[in-house]
Amino acid sequence: MKTVSSLLNEEWYKRYKRISKLNIRSSIYDVTNRCNLRCKGCFFFSSGEHKAAPEEMDIGKWETFIHGEMARGVNLAILIGGEPTLCLDRVEVFYSRLPTFCATNGLIKVPRDRFPHMMVGISLWGDEEDEKTLRGRDTFSISSRHYAGDPHAYYLYTITPKQMGKIERLVKKIRDVGLKVHMQLLSNDEGVDQFFWTPEQLKDMRNEMDHMLDQYPDTVISSKYYHRIITTGKMLDRSFGWDECPSVTEPLDKRDPGPKRLIGFIRWASDLKTMHRCCTSETRDCSTCKDGAAHMSWVMVNKRAHIRSEEDLKGWIEVYEMFAKLYQFIPW
Ligand code: SF4
Ligand code: SF4
Repeated sequence: MKTVSSLLNEEWYKRYKRISKLNIRSSIYDVTNRCNLRCKGCFFFSSGEHKAAPEEMDIGKWETFIHGEMARGVNLAILIGGEPTLCLDRVEVFYSRLPTFCATNGLIKVPRDRFPHMMVGISLWGDEEDEKTLRGRDTFSISSRHYAGDPHAYYLYTITPKQMGKIERLVKKIRDVGLKVHMQLLSNDEGVDQFFWTPEQLKDMRNEMDHMLDQYPDTVISSKYYHRIITTGKMLDRSFGWDECPSVTEPLDKRDPGPKRLIGFIRWASDLKTMHRCCTSETRDCSTCKDGAAHMSWVMVNKRAHIRSEEDLKGWIEVYEMFAKLYQFIPW
């Protein structure tokens, strides 16, 4: 029988042991329904999730709610929205109690005297031209000033088909301001013309992402196995989609048979009562979903299936390490 130790040499086994001790239980929270941008293709607004429930305005209710979340075992709070930095008092309620990650467009700086170690993921949708087309402004020029050299921040670069051949310029800009970058692919939820992926583009993009990782290993937080999975939608001999997705809100998950999934995962709306279907758009067709975190989690929850060859298991370890770095469970 194949076992972890029989497939790995000493060095890889140590890496495996380091992550196998982690017991990450995440959930996602819409901190607010508002944002200071309106990006074309934002899953939150395009699916009407901002209207799903009214925001809870009483900060005491947020405190009580978070104690309930901790009691059910959540040890990683992922804050999204809307734009969480519009409601720093709510962000603080999480940060003062739990390991917390805050997604932001970077236009408002998280004050580091108040949130010294909170991991901040800054969204970036391409170069100046793409950002102006999709988001109405070039956010990098502002966010890079706010976060240059910050050890607890990285760019979450959503790559579009129009970025083909242009990624390196942005990766260098990110390196030059002393930050890291993690890449994912646009799902184009609002059908913006020329932003759909073709199979050929996905293949080329995989090569480009691999090349970036080879060239800038100190800046790019990624893995080639992850690139393969997000560009092909395939893992081992399986295809990503509704039947396989691990990031469905647990109390709403009626799939039978259920796939391997994130234990206890819930995506909460900002009324702290309503639950959304999954980690991303309520209305997205799962067959077109390119959500990076869902694909990453898909690998992570399927450890057993990867204990079939040295290559598969190493791929699993690299994806797990990538996730653990992005959420500060292990150092960069
Ligand atoms: S900044 Fe984020 S939350 Fe705001 S509109 Fe853009 S994608 Fe949506
Ligand atoms: S849209 Fe994506 S993350 Fe949501 S259930 Fe479908 S596959 Fe999963």
